[in-house]
Amino acid sequence: MTVLSVLPDELRVWQAPLRDEFPIIAANPGLAYLDSAATAQKPQAVLDAVQTYLTTGNANAGRGTYPWANRTTALIEHARDRLRAFLGDPEPDRSGVHFVSGTTEGLRAIARDWLAGVLRDGDEIIVPFADHAANTEPWQEAVRLLAGRGVRVHIRSMPYDPAHDYDNARLAAMITERTRFIATTHVHHVYGGDMNVSRIRAVAGPDVVICLDAAQGVGHLPLSVAELDVDFVVFSGHKAMALPGTGAVWARNRRGPRFEPAGWSGTPNTAGIVSLTAALDWLERAGVDRIERWTVALGARLTDGLRRLPAYEVLGCQRSLAADSVVQQRHGIVTFRHRRIGSNDLGFILAAEGFMVRADGHCQAEQGEETASVRVSVHVYNTVEEIDRLLELLERLDAEA
Ligand code: PMP
Repeated sequence: MTVLSVLPDELRVWQAPLRDEFPIIAANPGLAYLDSAATAQKPQAVLDAVQTYLTTGNANAGRGTYPWANRTTALIEHARDRLRAFLGDPEPDRSGVHFVSGTTEGLRAIARDWLAGVLRDGDEIIVPFADHAANTEPWQEAVRLLAGRGVRVHIRSMPYDPAHDYDNARLAAMITERTRFIATTHVHHVYGGDMNVSRIRAVAGPDVVICLDAAQGVGHLPLSVAELDVDFVVFSGHKAMALPGTGAVWARNRRGPRFEPAGWSGTPNTAGIVSLTAALDWLERAGVDRIERWTVALGARLTDGLRRLPAYEVLGCQRSLAADSVVQQRHGIVTFRHRRIGSNDLGFILAAEGFMVRADGHCQAEQGEETASVRVSVHVYNTVEEIDRLLELLERLDAEA
């Protein structure tokens, strides 16, 4: 058993009352929700914040002269400041925070409303084609749009090593004076690896714009924009314990023109934005560093267990776990296949036993896995007992199939 997979008592004592703060989890003790990479459950504090807002001061923002409207406007401004603080923004006066419906919309807005206006004939961009399709298609669309105007931009494919980490040596060889933009991911949504984004800045040099898809990072591990030295951070609020239909683009506005989404965006998702502030407050109160230790430990425990069962193949970041290394640490996402039972069937078997997992291709872009797999993804409300019960079932299937 790796050191990572053993949970100290101090963490167990910290986690137990936090789990009780999630009404949907508390109401379903027989079920194990193991699909937090798809969307996270919401703590009572987030539900209360939405309820309070809607029952005491619901109004449109930036439009009124009366107290509820002014308060809503202030809540949205506060949400921007809250996010800047959460991300450790070193220059909050310069950066922009734009609320969007999620990562997909945020990345598309950057591609359409910023990148397409910045790129020139002969420029190059680097895109991670084994990551989520939401982080490849918008860049391809921008390049197609420019091609229609006679501007040729080359898309280079982010190189990976066999463990699915970014291969920084090959990346370094790819950077030229025409490299303008690199799209990256904080934590891989299939393999669970921390993609070590701070190394990319060292490789890319000071002038290249780096855009971070933090859909699986926010709320799971500390994220400092100063440390990672990135220009854009995009994430989905619903994966960070806020309501669906929320998300944000943080833009540092340090390289190139300011990012401003084009067009009139209409009424903001006020209740959703309120939920986002409450979620960030909750995450910070719980302690993102401890959430990271908890979910890494659960992921390592599952990986260790699966490795002892010959019928299973675990995908991605093998090397790092074996050495307990932080080089490419697996976060709370473990994806695997049974060598004889199809992944979709395995998903149904697990669901029938009360385990909610995802079984498909996980929206990976064109260099992704060729066949379906089962993904288990955990958050702070999951327990060692759930992982051990899952492993018992997987062990039975190992022997039977
Ligand atoms: N990027 C990554 C890494 C993701 O995991 C996801 C969601 N699975 C997305 C982007 C898209 O997020 P959303 O559907 O909330 O827009």
